[in-house]
Amino acid sequence: MKIVQIPLLRDNYAYLLVCEKTKRAAILDPSEADPVLNRIDQEQVSLEAILNTHHHRDHTGGNEGILARHKSEVYGHTSDSERIFGFTRGVDEGDEIQLGELKGKVIFVPGHTSGHVAYLFENNLFCGDTLFTAGCGRLFEGTPEQMQASLKKLMALPDNTKVYCGHEYTESNLRFAMSVEPKNPKLVSRFERVQGLRSRGAPTVPGTLEEEKQTNPFLRWDSKEIHVSLKSADPDTRLDPVSVFAAVRKMKDAF
Ligand SMILES: [Zn+2]
Ligand SMILES: [Zn+2]
Repeated sequence: MKIVQIPLLRDNYAYLLVCEKTKRAAILDPSEADPVLNRIDQEQVSLEAILNTHHHRDHTGGNEGILARHKSEVYGHTSDSERIFGFTRGVDEGDEIQLGELKGKVIFVPGHTSGHVAYLFENNLFCGDTLFTAGCGRLFEGTPEQMQASLKKLMALPDNTKVYCGHEYTESNLRFAMSVEPKNPKLVSRFERVQGLRSRGAPTVPGTLEEEKQTNPFLRWDSKEIHVSLKSADPDTRLDPVSVFAAVRKMKDAF
C-alpha cells in the first residue's frame, strides 16, 4: 500500500491511499480540492472513495470539488449523513472498507465530534482530530469520558501502528507536554528531535503509537509526574484515568 501525504491549508494533512496492485485510491480528509486533484492525476490512480473522519470543514472542504471530477463514494460515520457533503456510505465501529485489494477497518472514536471515526489500513491509523502526535483534539461535541474511552481504544492497537493525524501540531503539543511532564526523558528527546525537524520545515507526522504512549500527555493518565503537576495546579484533582485526562485537557485549553 502506498500513502501520499498532502499538506493543505495552514497545517492540515490529507492522505491519498493507493492499492498499488489495482491503482485504486481513496483520499482521506481532503480540506481542499485542487492540490488533491493534481496528486490524483500525477499518481495516475482511479479515485474510488473519499474517507472523512468527521464533518469539520477543514476535513471535508474538498469533497465538492473532487466529486465534480471523480465519481466516488463518500464515507463518514452514519450519524454525519447531513453534515458531510456528498455523503453516500455511512460506517460504524467494526465496518470493513475494501479498496482494491486493501482492506480497511472503521473505529468509532467520538469526543472531538459526536460522529468521529478513524480508519485503519494494515498498521496505518488515520485518526483525524481524535489522536494527534503528542496531543488530542478539543472536545467540541463530546465528554471527557467519551474521548478518554476513544483514546483507550486506539491505544489497544499494536505499538508499531503508524499515527497519521489530521494536523501538524506536534511541536506546540510537545511544548505543552513539557510543561506537565518535564522529567520524562523520552519526551525531552522527542521534543529536541521534533524542533530539529520543524526548523527545516520537515513533517513530524506520522508518528508511532509506541512513541505516543511514552510521550503524549493525553494518554499518560498513569504518569506520577503528571499527577503531581495536576495536584499542584489544583489539589482537588482526582487521579482516576478520566479525571486525569479531563484535567490535562482543561490545562491544555488554557495553555
Ligand atoms: Zn476537527
Ligand atoms: Zn481539523
